[in-house]
Amino acid sequence: MRAEGIANVRRILCLFPRYTSSFGTFEYAYPLTDGVRAFMPPQGLLLIAAYLPAHWPVRFIDENIRAATAEDFEWAEAVLVSGMHVQRRQMNDICRRAHAYDLTVAVGGPSVSACPDYYPSFDYLHVGELGTATDQLIARLSRTPSLPEQQVVLKSVERLDMTRFPIPAYELAEIPRYFLGSIQYSSGCPYQCEFCDIPGLYGRNPRLKTPQQITAELDKLLECGIMGSVYFVDDNFIGNRKAALDLLPHLVEWQKKTGYVLRFSCEATLNIAKRPEILAGMREAYFATIFCGIETPDPVALKAMHKDHNMMVPIMEAIQTLNSFGMEVVSGIILGLDTDKPETGQHLLEFIEASQIPLLTINLLQALPKTPLWERLERENRLIEDEGRDSNVDFRLPYDDVITTWRACMGRAYQPDKLLERYEYQITQTYPHRLQPPPSPERASWKNIKLGLIMLRNIFWKVGVLGDYKLHFWRFALRRLARGEIEYLISSALVAHHLIKFARDASSGHTNASYYSLKLQQASVPAE
Ligand code: SF4
Repeated sequence: MRAEGIANVRRILCLFPRYTSSFGTFEYAYPLTDGVRAFMPPQGLLLIAAYLPAHWPVRFIDENIRAATAEDFEWAEAVLVSGMHVQRRQMNDICRRAHAYDLTVAVGGPSVSACPDYYPSFDYLHVGELGTATDQLIARLSRTPSLPEQQVVLKSVERLDMTRFPIPAYELAEIPRYFLGSIQYSSGCPYQCEFCDIPGLYGRNPRLKTPQQITAELDKLLECGIMGSVYFVDDNFIGNRKAALDLLPHLVEWQKKTGYVLRFSCEATLNIAKRPEILAGMREAYFATIFCGIETPDPVALKAMHKDHNMMVPIMEAIQTLNSFGMEVVSGIILGLDTDKPETGQHLLEFIEASQIPLLTINLLQALPKTPLWERLERENRLIEDEGRDSNVDFRLPYDDVITTWRACMGRAYQPDKLLERYEYQITQTYPHRLQPPPSPERASWKNIKLGLIMLRNIFWKVGVLGDYKLHFWRFALRRLARGEIEYLISSALVAHHLIKFARDASSGHTNASYYSLKLQQASVPAE
């Protein structure tokens, strides 16, 4: 549905801020693609764009793809911004630029919802999800687009039922410029891990769209040119297990109808390993990757952070179970926990070796506002607000030791030979369990083949000829070519290249150790 009953017409500029360079945005892979410039289409802002009154002209600009110009600001009557904590500086910069054109600026999304104080210059703060705050904002802008006399805070006391969410306005975004497609089925998570702000922001009882909404969104993503993979950005895909089971047959039918041109991936808790019926459905729907917040292989640490559910199945066994359904596991890891010991880094490297997980996002612990961790550390007087630091946590171990461990782990885990060996394992031990999609005209389309050829050319030239780890690359690539594993060669080489390059920056101290850190928070320039 859309906002209704609004008389006036307003021209709205929806601006999504730049990301700071990070492990999880894959920007070093972009030059190997056919013109990718950004990570994923921002669900929240595209959702708001779709909800605005149908007669309001809307421009959407993702500043990871191109910066808003003077002409964009001169065209607009009001600017809407959304983003996460990591984009805070860039959001405030957009506000400054819009004010230079006397434009009213509103900010919504997860960061302002958790921390309204971070955004003192904005005219409207939209706190919470799509709901009453959105209706109030639209009504106020309809009455007048002028700047209010003082900041107005609008809170979504009632959230719009997700079954009434419109399809995000993917048509306004340059979908082929994104590394991955994104889609959301549910919001919220039943667990309460100490460091996580999801239950506080979105609730513990997951709210849901209908399977029909999801297949309609997938249709629209395809129409808008998505290729490759679509990521379910749900906080926990199995937050409501019955709902996941309800959705999967619809995804299978959709894949059959559209010729399996897309692969899916999602985030879920590791205890999904106890649900073979869900895993079997995911395999049939062509899920290829699953992100699990393993956080640490240390059971004591998991208990301390209230993530006991990671131990419902022994971790290594759970990973092997997911692999046996053809799904590569991506893991989140946290260093700097209170339970860490001097040998924690070594244990992590042993875990990486044993699990054969290629991609692990290794972050330093950061206390996010509105989390139990924040409250505990505040009580213990262990929060440090210092933009020169990589984390706001006063660790139990000396700060420099924790940073040194992080850098050493990044450097060793992503040595080209080690990383490509882990991909070799996945290709030989995990991927054979994947659904082998039937040949289809959609998969064999000239568009798909051309894209593959362009990426192969880029990979061979930029990694195989110009790269500085070419011997390791060719050892890996020639095996793939000999076995006709072109798709696996492309997908693993793209991601591996980013990991190798980013980890080098990290181990030499050129990037932040925490995804959430404010240190060095210059907006990244998409790699050329
Ligand atoms: S399981 Fe994941 S989403 Fe849920 S509370 Fe824990 S970290 Fe957050």
